[in-house]
Amino acid sequence: MKAVVKTQPGPGAEMKEVEIPKPGPNQVLVKVKTTSICGSDYHIYSWNKWAENNVNIPQIMGHELAGDVVEVGENVSLVKVGDFVSAETHIICGHCYQCKTGQYHICVNTKILGVHTDGVFADYAVVDASNIWKNDSSILPEYASIQEPLGNAIDTIRAGNVSAKNILITGAGPAGLLSIPVAKAFGASQVIVSEPNDYRRELSKEIGADHVINPIEESLEDLVNDTTGGIGVDFVAEMSGNPTAISQGLKQITPGGSMAILGLPAEEVKLDLTEDLIFKGVNLIGITGREMFKTWYIARRLLKENMIDLEPIITHRFPLEDFNKGMELMKSGNCGKIILLP
Ligand code: NAD
Ligand code: ZN
Repeated sequence: MKAVVKTQPGPGAEMKEVEIPKPGPNQVLVKVKTTSICGSDYHIYSWNKWAENNVNIPQIMGHELAGDVVEVGENVSLVKVGDFVSAETHIICGHCYQCKTGQYHICVNTKILGVHTDGVFADYAVVDASNIWKNDSSILPEYASIQEPLGNAIDTIRAGNVSAKNILITGAGPAGLLSIPVAKAFGASQVIVSEPNDYRRELSKEIGADHVINPIEESLEDLVNDTTGGIGVDFVAEMSGNPTAISQGLKQITPGGSMAILGLPAEEVKLDLTEDLIFKGVNLIGITGREMFKTWYIARRLLKENMIDLEPIITHRFPLEDFNKGMELMKSGNCGKIILLP
């Protein structure tokens, strides 16, 4: 089969012909119909510090997928050949304190599909049966593939109890973009998006943001004041990982409000905790992955009941062979979600 393999430390990856993998006793083999590029795939491709510390090469890249099960291991009974599936990408231990108390998404022994194991940028992929999510047959493979990052957006927005509230999303990369329709579906009254990239600001507007702003050229504070009657936003969904965006976002929250941070800053962040958090009684929430499998049920309902439209967020589609084009676009930032088709 063909597969996109990270073969060497340093930027790039290679399309290679490799053996179709064999599922272990508790695993299944999926024929990949659709995969999509995540920011972490780009980090592995470009080989940043995080990738260097986490990825053992050679390894097949990718983790977002939709496909059909074509073989199951001898112990697998709940997943059948022919099932149309996607995968939760956090591979958990099941025995740590967090797992034993039902907090699987923060398992201290988490491994990630396509980061610590061979991934899904290939014709076939092996997935642990316990990580398989059976898709509703009415959901298109392209949307099914995006459910995993959609889950990040759902968990972040859910943390804000956003119904009838004014919210700010900092950063409109794929995660921030996915958060816009989710926030609207959850009943947010006004969604403000702060994003320096022109393409992504335009797209944010198209998919339902009420106000967009380039925080480098204009005053975010003025916009938040004007649009909330001087109150400030009730909730900030931090989707950039940019230290300035984080401290700027925290300042826009009305006392008693909250902020959920999904974005991963590469360095320590300086915040005025006294003025911007403590005296305001602001609740700060860290988001990692997706609540397993609560978030997947929500994603299914949002998609099945047409409560969100992913179509405009998918901005590019390439054959898997053209993964380099997708990675270049990720680098430029002039994209939403990028689909790769084996
Ligand atoms: P991305 O890098 O594509 O998007 C980040 C966006 O933030 C970019 O469009 C960038 O232009 C914008 N930005 C930069 N500076 C800004 C500023 N000052 N104000 C507002 N926006 C600014 O990343 P993504 O794939 O959309 O993911 C978003 C973040 O979430 C990343 O940091 C990613 O690593 C992280 N992430 C975390 C988890 C988790 O489990 N916690 C999961 C997935 C992604
Ligand atoms: Zn665990």
